[in-house]
This record gives sequence, structure tokens and C-alpha cells, in this order.
Amino acid sequence: MTKVRKRKVGIAGGEYEATICDLLPANKGRSSLVNAMINAYDFNKLCDSITVKPAKRDELLKFHDSRYVDYVLRKRKIIDEEITTKQREALKKFNLKDDQGDEDEDKDDDDSEQESDSNDTLFNYGLLYDCPIFRLMSKYITTTAGSSISAARYLITESSTIDPETQLIAINWNGGRHHAKKAKASGFCYINDIVLAIIELRKTYEKIMYIDLDLHHGDGVESAFKFSDKVLTFSIHRKDIGFYPGTGSLEDLGKGKGYGYTVNVPIRHGLNDESMDEIIDRILKPTLDKFNPDCIVVQCGVDGLSSDEHQEWNLSIKGFGEQVSKILKFNKPTLLLGGGGYEHLQVARCWTYLTNIALDLNHNFDLIPEHELSDAYEDENFEFWNILHKNMIDDNSKDYINELANIINKRIESW
Ligand SMILES: [Zn+2]
Repeated sequence: MTKVRKRKVGIAGGEYEATICDLLPANKGRSSLVNAMINAYDFNKLCDSITVKPAKRDELLKFHDSRYVDYVLRKRKIIDEEITTKQREALKKFNLKDDQGDEDEDKDDDDSEQESDSNDTLFNYGLLYDCPIFRLMSKYITTTAGSSISAARYLITESSTIDPETQLIAINWNGGRHHAKKAKASGFCYINDIVLAIIELRKTYEKIMYIDLDLHHGDGVESAFKFSDKVLTFSIHRKDIGFYPGTGSLEDLGKGKGYGYTVNVPIRHGLNDESMDEIIDRILKPTLDKFNPDCIVVQCGVDGLSSDEHQEWNLSIKGFGEQVSKILKFNKPTLLLGGGGYEHLQVARCWTYLTNIALDLNHNFDLIPEHELSDAYEDENFEFWNILHKNMIDDNSKDYINELANIINKRIESW
């Protein structure tokens, strides 16, 4: 680990992208809260603004199945879905009409507009239950994918011009949709922007390490690269019978040439900062050192925070910041992405805090500055640190983490 002298940070998207990403049914309005809070602290002014180019159909096909892509990009009119007055105004401001469909000029989608969605097709593509079709879904998909691809391109283009003493970091809090599969939406994820970003990064960076800090296993990313020895996927996640998505066992190690380059750290209920710290120091660090990637991609899903509605893990915002800080200190070009997180006011706090960590600012967070969405924090007296430590038993004993560390470290040594 070398001392970082300087950092150059780019952040993807602004109010326009947030307005679109706010429509995701599982996280309605979250994106704007995050964007507005980062701007309220003026952190956006300290970052390069990464212009987001919506992903084109052929860019999505680098990972996804063409029939799935054509299906989700179809023109649809969704008008009976409820949205807030604020959202309606925001959509009007950016002239976003119901669903404008696929914007690919080469594609004639006049016919598809008339087709209705059959339940069988919706089921096959995973578009029922947790991933329903929603207003502006096609625009959401091209924006989310485009944001992470644009962030990946920022790392590539900037790397050729900056001095070697400077560390490059790109951020896309609207990304991190780790459950989406080739031809299936899953777990609130319709498009796998992470896989698409890694494919883009591979044009320049030979070895990439993907680190997944979300409460849930990063199954979509793992399965995309299970045959690769150039993309190492490392996921720390809650694992138990019946817990979504059910994959990510300690014995899943990748396939073929990629055997050994899938690392899963299955974790029990109640994980606290101290245990997470042990996992980072004793399992993640040796893996990073040994693999020595040219670039790192981190999925910063925050559904493991003690405040999250899942109530599975007991992590704090400061602890999460400490873990991300440790990863950044490896001094590699790094792409930071969002992910899960369902207590939206806490997610906004956490990703704002992580933006401060990326910028190496050590900002003194106290009262949340007044901004266009600060009313949301009124019941919490506008305090930034409003969550007290929760009493939750950590089922991950020292012995259990020891056992995981021994098994994983032994495997890594054999590379
Ligand atoms: Zn999650």
C-alpha cells in the first residue's frame, strides 16, 4: 500500500439522471435525495462532472441477450402508476413524457408499440413481482447502464493524461445493479451496469477486481465472469437458507480458467463494523495484494446498515466509510457504484459521506445544510448523525471469521 498524494474524482450524472432513476419502483425518489445532498455540501464542485451518454442498444448487447434488450426497450405507455407531484414537476421540467421507448434511431419500434405484454413473457424475463414494468423504464435502463459505462470511460480517458502520482476515482451512485442477468431482471435490477462497465474497463485495464459490499450476493456479476481469470469477483454477503438470492457459497469458486477467481464470503446475521473490519483486513486485503488488479470496481450497496429495513446487519455509516477508505488506499483506479439501500435518508447520508471519503476531505458533518430536499430531514432535526448504535447480536464470531480467512487465504496462495 502506497501513500496517496492526490486524487482526481469524477461523478456521473446530475439532476436529470436523478429524475429518471427516481422512478425505480424499489427506490422511488432515492436518487434525487442522494444527488441533492452531495450538492448541498458542494462536493459536486470538487469532482469532475462526468457527462452521461445513455447506453445504445448495441452497448447493452455486450452482455445482455438481444431479445431481452428489445423487450425492455419497447415503447410502452404506463400512465396509471402513481408518482408524486414533485416527480411530475421534475419530469415536466426535463420534458420527459411517459415512455419514449428505445431511442436507437436504427430501430423501427412503431409496431412494437401496439403489442401488449403477456404474463408468460413478463415472467420469463423476470418482469413480474419485484421487477415490474414502470414508467420510463427503457430510459431508466439506458441511463443507468450509460452512467456506469460513462464513468468507466472517464477512468480510461483520464488515465492517459494524469501524472502517475494521482489516483483516479469515478463515482456513479445510480449504478450497482448486481442481480440483473443476461436475459432476466432480478432483485430490483433490470440491467447489469456493473458487468457493462467492467467490459468497458477491460479495454484498457487487464486485471479487474470487483468488490461487492451489498447485503446480498453479487450473483449477476459473478455469473458473468465465472470463466475469467482476469476479472476477480469478491462478494461479502448475508447467506442463509431462504435468503435472497441464495447463491454465493464459500465453495463457488468459478469455472474453467476462472476457477479460483470467484471469492465468496458468506456472512451470518448481525455483522457489525468490527467484524467487517476483520474481514477487510484478513480476507479482502490479502486477496487484493495477491491478485494485484489494475483497476477496482466497488459495489457500495448499503442495505447492511443498521438503519436499513432489512435489519440483517449492524453496520454504521462511519464504519462503511472506513472500509471504502481502506479499499481506496490500494491506490488503484477505482469505480465506486451504488446498489441496495432502502432507508433512503440514510442512503443519501452514507453516499454523501463516501463521496467525502473519495475526495479525501474529512468534512465535519453535523447539521444537514439547507437545500431543495432538506425538508425530508425535518423529523430528524436535520442531524447528519441521527442513528445510535443498535443492540444486535453479531452471529459472526471471531472463530467463524478465522475459519473463513484460513480457507480463503489458503486458496489464494495456490494461485
Ligand atoms: Zn442488496
